[in-house]
Amino acid sequence: MASSTAASAPASTLERRLCLGGRRGGMGLGGLGLLAPPDVAVDDPTPPEMPGLLRLRCAVQHYDWGRRGADSLVARLSRRGVVGDADDRPFAELWMGTHPAAPSSLAPDVSLRDWIARNPAALGRAVAARWGGDLPFLFKVLSVAKALSIQAHPDRELAAALHARRPSTYRDGNHKPEMAVAVTEFHALCGFAVTKELKEVLRTVPEVQELVGKEESRKLLSVKEQDGGIGVRTYLKSAFTKLMVASDEEVSEAISKLKSRLSGESKVRTLTKKEQLVLSLEKQYPGDVGVLAAFFLNYVKLSPGEALYVGSNEPHAYLSGECIECMATSDNVVRAGLTPKYRDVQTLCSMLTYNQTFPEVLHGVPVQPYVTRYTPSTDEFEVDRYLLPPGKSVTMSPVPGPSIFLVMTGEGEIQAGSMHDSTKAKEGDIFFVPAHTEVKLLTSGPRSLQLYRSGVNSRFLS
Ligand SMILES: [Zn+2]
Repeated sequence: MASSTAASAPASTLERRLCLGGRRGGMGLGGLGLLAPPDVAVDDPTPPEMPGLLRLRCAVQHYDWGRRGADSLVARLSRRGVVGDADDRPFAELWMGTHPAAPSSLAPDVSLRDWIARNPAALGRAVAARWGGDLPFLFKVLSVAKALSIQAHPDRELAAALHARRPSTYRDGNHKPEMAVAVTEFHALCGFAVTKELKEVLRTVPEVQELVGKEESRKLLSVKEQDGGIGVRTYLKSAFTKLMVASDEEVSEAISKLKSRLSGESKVRTLTKKEQLVLSLEKQYPGDVGVLAAFFLNYVKLSPGEALYVGSNEPHAYLSGECIECMATSDNVVRAGLTPKYRDVQTLCSMLTYNQTFPEVLHGVPVQPYVTRYTPSTDEFEVDRYLLPPGKSVTMSPVPGPSIFLVMTGEGEIQAGSMHDSTKAKEGDIFFVPAHTEVKLLTSGPRSLQLYRSGVNSRFLS
């Protein structure tokens, strides 16, 4: 997992002094999500020494599915890999948070994680008590040029077991519910299609039916379409597993037959959206079983401003576009297709819920002028989108949990807590804001100012 630190403007002298001035000395806490609760009082709502905000330097992940150059939002926000920079690697993800795989820092030698460990009041009392002195969420930007793997994220119990068994593959013991907020049009596969659609696949895609086998196909074709119960789950699980464990030779032969059949049929009819998708996935990952698995999953298209929530043990694959993503602090991924990385097919097939409801798409709820909130059904996080027209300002009342702000577009000023002077904020700037801090944002210049804030779910904090 390659990573490097994204360039960002150096912290101001004031910010640097505040960043480095841990008021309670080093706590020496370690271990993701498993930290002991801090042994200091953290119930003082507005610690006088707490800085208003801290400028973060954040890491980029150069996964091979990422976009390159000026076409990548991650590259533009990190101010690298664009005009005048010879770095032509893919810029896939920008990570904002404390995960050890790519931690954000305040200054070259001060990680946000260490700073929080020394300043647990920055989390607020409830967050520090519940999540043991670490930031419970990880905030990201994704720039997707080609499909990510078909994957699922384990629930807490399975994550702990996988981490104990294979710590080099499953790097922490936490669950990883996640939410993607589309910045551009964003496409994904998510969750199993309804029975009616699956029956249609078995009837009309002989290459899939062949791999699933006559017996499993017959069982799935025989279930009632309204039956969302144990019967259909069992049959769906065995049919999907049969497909996923097929040999490389069988898969490659089936895909080659599928390609030539669709190529012929495209001359006499318009291919369905799913068929077109499958052909484009085949170009990205030739011979990969994930190409065929796509027939089993819902094809989700998000417009900018819509969000997709993915709970534990649900299969999904992000396909294209750019998004803001927030998740519980974890990097646990069980992959089974559309990837050159390690696949754990048995674990994936056995962990899935086999639910067949269409994925939850959130449209966001206005919480105050210029602010839309996306609240998923998990305690660790929520995301706010701020869109301020030129000349406007907005104030975020203090919340009893930590926040990370990312400036997506435009220019403005940000003023936090007891700061007398505001700090300039422009595209790509990222700030950590401690709990109980009021934040005022105002635009400068002719463009709207667009920011995203991640914080602990307000339902948990209220
Ligand atoms: Zn995922």
